[in-house]
Amino acid sequence: MDKIIEQIKTSRRPVVIAAPAVIKKLTATLAEARLFRNVTYKLFRTAAEDLLGSWKPAARLAVARDLKVSPEHTEILLANSLFARPGVSRKVDELCALRERYKEYLDYSGLILDFYRGREVIIVGDYGTDDLFNRARAILTEIANVISHATDSFIRKPVPIYRFKDYKEEILALGYEVASLIYMGVRPDNIKIQKPPASYMPYFDEVFFLLGIEYASASDFTLSEYEVTKEIMTALAARRGEKLSAALPDILKRYRDYENPVISAITGVFNRYMAYDLTVAAIYADLAYSLSTSRLPAPDYRGAVILTDLRDDVAAADDHWFIPVFNQDIFPATHLDDDYLDDDEKATLGLLTAREANRREKARALASIDRAPRLYLSYSLMAPDGMAVKSPLVSAVIEKHGAFEQEYKRPENVSYSRALDIIALGKRLDNYYKYDVREEGLEKLLATYPDHSCLTYKNAFNGLEPDTYKRLFRTPFVLSYTSIDKYYRCAFAFYLEKIIKLTRGGNEEALYIGNLFHYCLEALLAQPDISDTRAFLEEKVASYLSAEGKEPTAREKHFIEKYLAILEKLADFFREQNENSSFAVYGLEKEFEVPLGEGVVLKGKIDKILTTEADGVTYAIVIDYKSGEPEVDLNRVVHGLDLQLPIYFYLLNSGGHEYRFAGMYLQKVLPSGVFARQEGKTYEDQLHDYFRLKGYTNGDRSVLQLINRDFMVSGFRTIAGLRLTGDGSIHKTDAARVLTDAEFARLMEIVGEKLMEARDGIRAGKFPINPKKNNKIDSCEYCPYRDVCFREEADYRELVFDKNLSFIREAP
Ligand code: SF4
Repeated sequence: MDKIIEQIKTSRRPVVIAAPAVIKKLTATLAEARLFRNVTYKLFRTAAEDLLGSWKPAARLAVARDLKVSPEHTEILLANSLFARPGVSRKVDELCALRERYKEYLDYSGLILDFYRGREVIIVGDYGTDDLFNRARAILTEIANVISHATDSFIRKPVPIYRFKDYKEEILALGYEVASLIYMGVRPDNIKIQKPPASYMPYFDEVFFLLGIEYASASDFTLSEYEVTKEIMTALAARRGEKLSAALPDILKRYRDYENPVISAITGVFNRYMAYDLTVAAIYADLAYSLSTSRLPAPDYRGAVILTDLRDDVAAADDHWFIPVFNQDIFPATHLDDDYLDDDEKATLGLLTAREANRREKARALASIDRAPRLYLSYSLMAPDGMAVKSPLVSAVIEKHGAFEQEYKRPENVSYSRALDIIALGKRLDNYYKYDVREEGLEKLLATYPDHSCLTYKNAFNGLEPDTYKRLFRTPFVLSYTSIDKYYRCAFAFYLEKIIKLTRGGNEEALYIGNLFHYCLEALLAQPDISDTRAFLEEKVASYLSAEGKEPTAREKHFIEKYLAILEKLADFFREQNENSSFAVYGLEKEFEVPLGEGVVLKGKIDKILTTEADGVTYAIVIDYKSGEPEVDLNRVVHGLDLQLPIYFYLLNSGGHEYRFAGMYLQKVLPSGVFARQEGKTYEDQLHDYFRLKGYTNGDRSVLQLINRDFMVSGFRTIAGLRLTGDGSIHKTDAARVLTDAEFARLMEIVGEKLMEARDGIRAGKFPINPKKNNKIDSCEYCPYRDVCFREEADYRELVFDKNLSFIREAP
């Protein structure tokens, strides 16, 4: 830097071309020394634009409009056209033609050359990595006295290069090192860090926040990412037909730019377009592009650690520089042969090939290492996005500075952040409890923070604020049998699904085939006298598929065929069921609705209701069709489970008419797998067994007679578990499936209580994580919310089931 100052002192009207940090340092040094010189400062980019010209914003608008390409593509074409020369390739010829066609938009005046002509031009820190400036430099060399300087001279120093397994350890160590410097009294502005890639920044932010270290950095966000920009662009989009000069000031009236730096910055971008008499529609895409490539100006913080690009920076004597992520392709950055112009075209045009650009980038990166007065380098072998490799500059740094690679050792007995220590303790405790691994430092951290809260997390759900729940709980609140079952299986699962309506996708294919099956079954039940079952079912399948606009796949066709064969057999079973029975169909898929009070309504749809009249009494049977292998066990009713069939009677009897209980059953209609071989039974026999009704029957002989007039002769072929002894009474082992009227009445009382209990629990917002378990059920087995509730083993409620409904049985 001293040499450059000397050069400026001895030059007359010099022009200095350098990076912003260098210019800042030079002006400050001259001001401190009270040296007043007529110096013109130029950035590399502005000097290049002076000498080669630059495209006005109108060029991008015109090219994008004429060629119908995006603003991004237009930008690439225009930038490359500045290097084009005829005869290289067809692509480059087209760039020449483009430049010629739109030259009126090229901002260039040959008079600018007079500004540089004959003057001393001092170029600082140019490593030839920018094609545009390389071209400009060649012109300058012709017309001016060009003097080159490195930013600063080589400083040999010990350079530790720390190696980490994981990037988090690396960033944590960086935080500790910076904290220790600040603790030792180093001014934060003298600590400069090479800005890590964006993927490292979330963890970097976390560590520095927990260490209480403030840092200054240019924003990572483009202007288009701010909410206020989105708001303004949306407002503009709604006024596409208006002139920008009319619409924009009107929209911006609402915003006061002195309150929001983003407004000032986007106003600067908008101003570039205000000169054109264009509609919003004509410039909207280009405006969006400009906002997506502009950022807020870097703030000039004092008293904060600085995150910057050290390759363009200049060091003060008491600076400490840190280059983390000293990894391949990051420091130095790597260029690939994937630009608009390929390497062959670039070589012919005298531009940098990828190989040459990489060589120069290395020199530029190494120069920044060389001029740092104090330096810390680190790299990790695992980056946020996968495996990583150390920088190819490691060996050069070792050779030039006598550097040494080493593992990082955290300073013992020093802590800079309680929060970070607690996190470190948590990780160690986790490893200790889960894997029995005692990591270094565990005991010490435990002794230092006996009040830690690690692993004390409780997953218990303690309910919602009353006001919040009031908003979520809308009346009438409809309960169905399935939702009541869900509530009793696990109140928290009910809450997720029915209150906050968290739903998880199902198996769409299974759903569609299942619906088709249900549709055919319904048709079959509604039409008792079918002469040709097969033809009837095929016609139903065709009409369903056409209504749904579905063309079944080969796999779906296979299942449809399989299910039709089962439905044919089921039709035979229904015929047998109707023979000798006094019961007839009263309703199919019949809907009921009963208010439970407190704004809660119970709704249900009963698949099949059979009724008959005898001696002025109406008897009823309810049946629900099921696929798979479901069971019904009324011993579970006391726990609120298996309430479906009793709830159907509850609904049926709430309509004002009294139905006497005859039977309640599940009927399985769709086997979920193949049957195991049974000696002496054909497939048809096994299918028949599978279809038999499973449930509970009124054991009164007169009621049994109504169900099957010939039961004393033929037994109950269509009801499972209802065998008879020689004298016609129910077999002892099947008695558990038979109820008296009084027992049924007691059962219905319990069902009523369980309904009220569920209603009150839901009304009160009680949704504990209370899954049920015993050797028959496990509420969590197929629950899709396991990743939400963090269920622990202790949350399970172990259930004990009665064996013989003793809670309702009459005394013998
Ligand atoms: S996984 Fe178990 S505890 Fe968790 S919500 Fe589902 S049923 Fe409840």
